[in-house]
Amino acid sequence: MEYISTRGSAPTLDFEGVTLAGLATDGGLYLPSEWPRFSEAEIRDLRGKPYHELAATVMRPFVKGSLTDDELDAMCAAVYGDFGHAAVTPLVQLNEQHWLLELFHGPTLAFKDVALQMLGHLFETFLARREQRMMIVGATSGDTGSAAINAVANRDNVEIVMLHPKGRVSDVQRRQMTTVRAANVYNLAIDGSFDDAQAHVKCMFRDPNVTGALKLGAVNSINWARLMAQVVYYFYSALQLGAPERKVAYSVPTGNFGDVFAGYVAARMGLPIERLIVATNVNDILYRALSDGDYSAGGVTPTITPSMDIQVSSNFERLLFDCGGRDGAALAEQMGAFEASKAMRLTNAQAQGASALFTSIRADQDETAQALAWAYRETSQIIDPHTGVGLHASIVAGDTGLIAKDVPIITLATAHPAKFPDAVERAVGVRPALPQRVGDLFGREEHFTEISGDYEAARNFVLQNAADA
Ligand SMILES: *Cc1c(COP(=O)(O)O)cnc(C)c1O
Repeated sequence: MEYISTRGSAPTLDFEGVTLAGLATDGGLYLPSEWPRFSEAEIRDLRGKPYHELAATVMRPFVKGSLTDDELDAMCAAVYGDFGHAAVTPLVQLNEQHWLLELFHGPTLAFKDVALQMLGHLFETFLARREQRMMIVGATSGDTGSAAINAVANRDNVEIVMLHPKGRVSDVQRRQMTTVRAANVYNLAIDGSFDDAQAHVKCMFRDPNVTGALKLGAVNSINWARLMAQVVYYFYSALQLGAPERKVAYSVPTGNFGDVFAGYVAARMGLPIERLIVATNVNDILYRALSDGDYSAGGVTPTITPSMDIQVSSNFERLLFDCGGRDGAALAEQMGAFEASKAMRLTNAQAQGASALFTSIRADQDETAQALAWAYRETSQIIDPHTGVGLHASIVAGDTGLIAKDVPIITLATAHPAKFPDAVERAVGVRPALPQRVGDLFGREEHFTEISGDYEAARNFVLQNAADA
């Protein structure tokens, strides 16, 4: 499979190349040059397959030329044999119309494990083949950092330095990063905000002192391999509710537009999807873009759903490219103007293409809390606030007739409630317990280095530790 950049001027790469590259050299994001398609009969044949077999079948066309069938099968069996639930992503019924797809049974209790565990194996395989080492540098406001660290801890040929803003991630999130004992894992608590940490990381990718000495790798959701692995659970859940004969709708708590874009990919591959609901919190740039074409960034308002508190959704560029006629030169110009002014309008083609499948619904904090209370009262389910944003949107979509009563709506449950115990307790009056398998998190020793908020401090740490390794 060949991959092209959304901005049209980076070299085309194969799957191994895009996995190791992350961002394209022209500033764009990589996408397959064409979408593989499954026929109705082929989709019907996927019914009843265990998760790891389905995963290999769905991902096979994307990795062609970079992994043999045997390598891919073995990798999927290893990755998805190790989750906290035998079904990997179990589907739970709430009522006649509503369902939850639980994506939080991985090691760090958020959906990011589903893809990052796979990415860890891919890095190890490709780096060994090239006899290369890679230094992953990332910034996290919580969930990505722990999932990435758990995915690459103790893997060969790769090291990871994760920056988090000191005192600004939750205790559970910090401990999930800092209690991992592995010689290739470094946690940095910086004296600054998440935006400072993110800016340092971006600087390192452009700093010749760093790029001359190290091969840097990225684990954020601009990495195509992550999106690919997330396509699988759309197939898995739709098949259980009657695909391909019956359509289903999804509501996806959205930040960077990665998870919901994977649903779009599933639809392009032939999975019948009625609608994708982009559920946002009050940081609603996507709501405005999908409702009236206004894509303009404001300031970020902190909420009880921190993983969705973003200004700009990187993966939205992939949708604009695909819906806007795949014109890399035009998109490069449009995105260049957006980066300068922080505002743009969708073209007619982009707006119409997106509205064929996407609708956005926004939830404020009260509505989110009410969705948590509804789930607890009506179904005895304790859900996390991010999932609550999604469930609010699902209920609105069902009640207003946006989605017809006979179409099931699946809300993606993106995190375990015990990751955000304070907000959950306020909404439902019950403090959720951590699952048994991570139960001693608060008994384990933490390891992290505190540094100042200066760029040089972070850069010197990375260079020094790479030299020692
Ligand atoms: C990352 C995250 C999201 C947002 O997902 P995107 O792919 O960035 O849209 C939603 N909920 C939780 C719990 C997350 O960790």
